[in-house]
Amino acid sequence: AKDAGRNTYRLFTPGGDAAIAADLQIENDLHRALERDELVLYFQPQFECHSGRLVGAEALVRWHRDGRLVAPEEFIPVAEDTGLIVPIGEWALREACRQAAGWQQRLEWPVRVAVNLSPRQLEDEQVVERIAQTLQASGLPAQLLELEITENAVVRDTRQAAFRLQRLRALGVSIAIDDFGVGYSSLSYLQELPVDKFKIDHSFVARLQGPGSDARLVRALIAMAHSLDVGIVAEGVETPAQLRQLQALGCDEAQGYLLGRPVPAAQFLARIVALQRA
Ligand code: C2E
Ligand code: CA
Ligand code: CA
Ligand code: CA
Repeated sequence: AKDAGRNTYRLFTPGGDAAIAADLQIENDLHRALERDELVLYFQPQFECHSGRLVGAEALVRWHRDGRLVAPEEFIPVAEDTGLIVPIGEWALREACRQAAGWQQRLEWPVRVAVNLSPRQLEDEQVVERIAQTLQASGLPAQLLELEITENAVVRDTRQAAFRLQRLRALGVSIAIDDFGVGYSSLSYLQELPVDKFKIDHSFVARLQGPGSDARLVRALIAMAHSLDVGIVAEGVETPAQLRQLQALGCDEAQGYLLGRPVPAAQFLARIVALQRA
């Protein structure tokens, strides 16, 4: 029963009933959140390591619920379980493309936007058509959209996933594998996937420095990406020492609190405009 799903599992954990009731409440409230425009996107900058240039931003969803800002950890798992992640993800994609299309008119060089695509979205037969339509409606060039997908989005049906990713790339969209290194998939099969970039999980970046530090894995992930001619981004960069080491190891891009926390769209735009004028 333990692996029959997280709600089932919780029946066997202390306080399980309360946890299930809380999830049901979140599910009900999430339906309304979509209708009432309670969801907002925050944007976190991504920088090229060698030049220090701001090259992109990851769009991260937040929920204004009863005067409180709710983090994705609290509702994305429920949304995944119930399928609500599909309309939420489609909203996030529309909103991110709309915002990013607006930025370009104010900028001297283009800034890409990265949007998280849930496994459930990738399973949708119409996913490629939907994304093409969203791009067209927003006016954002496909080259400025990146989609972040986790490894587990492609393990269930690798051939079908690879085919869809290939079609998305044919549109001009780029594909990043998120949380790279934490999944169960073998590296040999990741190399078969048509992707542009790997994102090193923050847990590996955290291990670069300090007591018991170990850079071997990050070094190996960077080497693997480059041998496959795939770009590599580190997430969760929190200290200057981590950034220096990533630069020394040849990492292409970095993202993390050191370089910028996720902020609302208006604040993000103000920051890029200021940076490009500097
Ligand atoms: P993720 O895709 O791995 O996103 C990176 C998370 O790391 C974000 O958490 C970000 O705020 C956080 N982060 C960034 N820099 C640092 C740092 O230096 N240190 C630390 N400790 N954390 C850092 P956030 O915004 O809470 O999002 C959590 C997760 O929720 C995301 O993980 C993603 O899996 C999911 N998520 C967020 N928005 C969406 C969405 O629109 N669609 C889907 N499917 N998932 C989303
Ligand atoms: Ca992500
Ligand atoms: Ca990640
Ligand atoms: Ca993550």
